[in-house]
Amino acid sequence: MLACMPPDFAPAPPACDPRASTAAPAPTAPLSGRAAPVALREVGLRDGLQSIARTLPTATKLQWLRAAHAAGLREVEVGSFVPPRLMPQLADTQALVHEALRLPGLVVSVLVPNLKGAERALRSGAHAMLLPLSASQAHSLANLRKTPDDVVREIAEIRRLRDAAGSTCLLEVGLSTAFGCTIQGRVEPDEVLRLVRAALDAGADRVGLADTVGYADPRQVRELFERAFELTRPYDRAGEPALACGHFHDTRGLGLANVFAAWEAGVRRFDACTGGIGGCPHAPGASGNVATEDVAYLLASMGVPTGVDFDALMTLRRSLAGWLEGEPLHGHIWRAGLPRTMPARRREATAAEVAQ
Ligand SMILES: [Zn+2]
Repeated sequence: MLACMPPDFAPAPPACDPRASTAAPAPTAPLSGRAAPVALREVGLRDGLQSIARTLPTATKLQWLRAAHAAGLREVEVGSFVPPRLMPQLADTQALVHEALRLPGLVVSVLVPNLKGAERALRSGAHAMLLPLSASQAHSLANLRKTPDDVVREIAEIRRLRDAAGSTCLLEVGLSTAFGCTIQGRVEPDEVLRLVRAALDAGADRVGLADTVGYADPRQVRELFERAFELTRPYDRAGEPALACGHFHDTRGLGLANVFAAWEAGVRRFDACTGGIGGCPHAPGASGNVATEDVAYLLASMGVPTGVDFDALMTLRRSLAGWLEGEPLHGHIWRAGLPRTMPARRREATAAEVAQ
């Protein structure tokens, strides 16, 4: 077994064609209910830092990682297994995985750009690997030098490799540029949905939709997620939705509105970056993931549990401002703090309800 899972993290069942099963689709109501907890995956150590030229020392990244865990975040994307010469900022990913695996209850996730990266992820013992699949042909060629269908074939290879290794490392596919592309422009929803199905058929355990370049609007988000939920429901397993993540950038100020629209459509897990840092080196003008603290506030303000401790998250944000002095940080809630009218039980949130 190459990877070990935290006790509260159910491993994916073996590969099968869900459409061949006569069993009824797994019920999704308990997960999609409005009171259901929402998981936030901190992706600042990967999506955030990859867009910043300076390299943070490993010791500082570990402080960030531990502070995120202490603030109640239970999934962190700690880095990316890309060649270090392409992204020296993330060259210490292996060391971060190693340390992150010691934190109790933390799901340790890494980005992998290809089969080689997946091999390293499997060896590292990470709990989950995220493979980007661009819905835009032009973005896919610029980012990975492959067509989307080449990437789908690679997903199948990664799945075979994972199964042959006896690993339980979850294979998640993130559909990037799902709402538009700075290079290609419009990305057809039908093409996004075709690739979602192709990724699941190729063996991905779950998929997410990403607005890589900040083009999405809330109506578009709601409609595409609703269609995608309909399509992916037969692939749900043991009550876990196959469509399992929303990833939004706040490039044009609609990040939180898009999170809300996706939540309304049933999404219960989001990527976010403390301080709203982030971007994509091959998507000119793209900047800023939604800020973790703002997403946590949005959800807590509606009484949705996230497990996040605001005070601890604000402390992390202040530290981050020091570590990244001179870099623009974004977000709103840090300026004004929580409103006095926010009930203490919501402020504390949430931590008790999803304590792990
Ligand atoms: Zn991103």
